[in-house]
Amino acid sequence: MLPVVALVGRPNVGKSTLFNRLTRSRDALVADFPGLTRDRKYGQANYDGYQFIVVDTGGIHGDEEGIDEVMAKQSLQAIEEADVVLFLVDARDGVTVGDQAIAEHLRKQQQQKKVYMVCNKIDGIDSQSAMADFYSIALGSLYGIAAAHGRGVEQLLESCFKPL
Ligand code: GDP
Ligand code: MG
Repeated sequence: MLPVVALVGRPNVGKSTLFNRLTRSRDALVADFPGLTRDRKYGQANYDGYQFIVVDTGGIHGDEEGIDEVMAKQSLQAIEEADVVLFLVDARDGVTVGDQAIAEHLRKQQQQKKVYMVCNKIDGIDSQSAMADFYSIALGSLYGIAAAHGRGVEQLLESCFKPL
């Protein structure tokens, strides 16, 4: 069984863009991976020599109150079955209430899961100052990427897979 990497975060932060980059849109045959359900979008990634299953999720909204409402069921399940969680945020938006709620939830999971906070869309902006805002809610290290262009993705994966 390949390691499972879940992409979670608010809508519009770039999860599907990263998914497409990692898988180059090669959808995995879920049947080949017993234990995974069909509710979420799975792809098989072979990126920079790293092979893994990547899970795209759609459903965490940021403006509800309470972690139960904020974390949609499918995202919670994706976190549940993942070995590594990539928590994506939007560098251009700064920290939002939704980001804070997701961070709270993931903080409770950190014993079991490897969680990496990923600041996306650092292209064309001052990435250092954009990312500085996120240190207040960061879980471990913070990685800057531009999913649309691939910047930072190799370094992120290197960090994710070193401990596995
Ligand atoms: P999702 O809702 O989290 O799956 O987000 P999407 O992958 O659908 O992306 C939302 C929007 O952000 C789209 O318009 C993307 O083109 C844009 N986007 C994603 N990644 C990047 C990036 O690295 N840089 C920039 N500038 N835009 C991005
Ligand atoms: Mg999406």
